[in-house]
Amino acid sequence: MSDRDTRHKASMEKLKAHVDDKVANATEQRGLILINTGNGKGKTTAAWGTVARALGYGYGVGVVQFIKGLWECGERNRLEDDPNLDIAIMATGFTWETQNREADTQACREVWAEAERMLADPEVYLVVLDEITYMLKFGYLDIATVKQALENRPHEQTVVITGRNAHRDLIAMADTVTDMQEVRHAFGSGLQARRGIDF
Ligand code: ATP
Ligand code: MG
Repeated sequence: MSDRDTRHKASMEKLKAHVDDKVANATEQRGLILINTGNGKGKTTAAWGTVARALGYGYGVGVVQFIKGLWECGERNRLEDDPNLDIAIMATGFTWETQNREADTQACREVWAEAERMLADPEVYLVVLDEITYMLKFGYLDIATVKQALENRPHEQTVVITGRNAHRDLIAMADTVTDMQEVRHAFGSGLQARRGIDF
């Protein structure tokens, strides 16, 4: 063996010991709270990727979209007929277009009721609360209500939360937090959002 091969082998042995150690330490089994936050692209995309993953094993999944896009979205088109998927969409458009606090609050309460139902149902293995961070930011929903529903959810249920500026109490209670960092976004160069890529 060359020097390089020997060094590689030693370093791989060390890495394996490290990984084995970590695997041995990860013994707990329960549903998780995941947060995809930050300014970079990918928060909702990653959440839908997890939805596809859970549906692929036949698990029950609930998706709650707190800000209804003006555009359709391809992932919803593709997956909405799955009998194991339950989707609830907030009844108003983007909040900066409706500019009506009272109507938005009411729409938010209605869709939150759907979220609460999913968060209480042990048959729902995964719940996605897409863009819920803005509801807390705008004061349409209060953090205590959301925390309580998350804390009391079924033991095996996982929740994915998406949106910028996640509330610090949510960050504190989450198991996995990913901050999507923007290096560059095509929109900044004047490129239009692309069908099948951005929505
Ligand atoms: P995506 O849905 O693509 O995963 P996201 O959930 O991370 O994006 P949102 O803030 O929810 O981000 O973005 C909604 C829309 O805005 C999407 O069409 C997305 O491609 C686009 N977008 C995401 N990040 C940026 C950004 N940094 N600048 C401009 N547009 C963005
Ligand atoms: Mg999003």
